[in-house]
Amino acid sequence: MPKVLVVEDNKDNFKIVNYALVRAGYEVLWAERGEDGIDLALKEHPHFILMDINLPGIDGMEATRRIRESEARAIPVIAITAHAMSGDRETIISAGCNGYIEKPIDPITLVEQIHKIIGQDANENPDR
Ligand code: MN
Repeated sequence: MPKVLVVEDNKDNFKIVNYALVRAGYEVLWAERGEDGIDLALKEHPHFILMDINLPGIDGMEATRRIRESEARAIPVIAITAHAMSGDRETIISAGCNGYIEKPIDPITLVEQIHKIIGQDANENPDR
């Protein structure tokens, strides 16, 4: 079962994302802070990371920048953004995110949206 990491400080949002990922067969790791997300990425090497942007402490963009400078740099990172931030696509991509998904999260299409961003092999685990 591929492991994935969700960095999200809002428990209700996490529950929706967790539901969709578990239903699709993923094992879900959860971090509520960016710093903890980086630690888990390094320790667990998840198949991909869903990264909330607005977090306590360092934000999701800074966490992504630090992941890109770490041994976990190859892990795809998909940003989860509030609707008001949808104009910030270039900032999100320049921080190192592979793409972004806008809130509110639709649990029915979430995994499909992830697969569109990271490719068809999202359920496979070729290099880990
Ligand atoms: Mn948040």
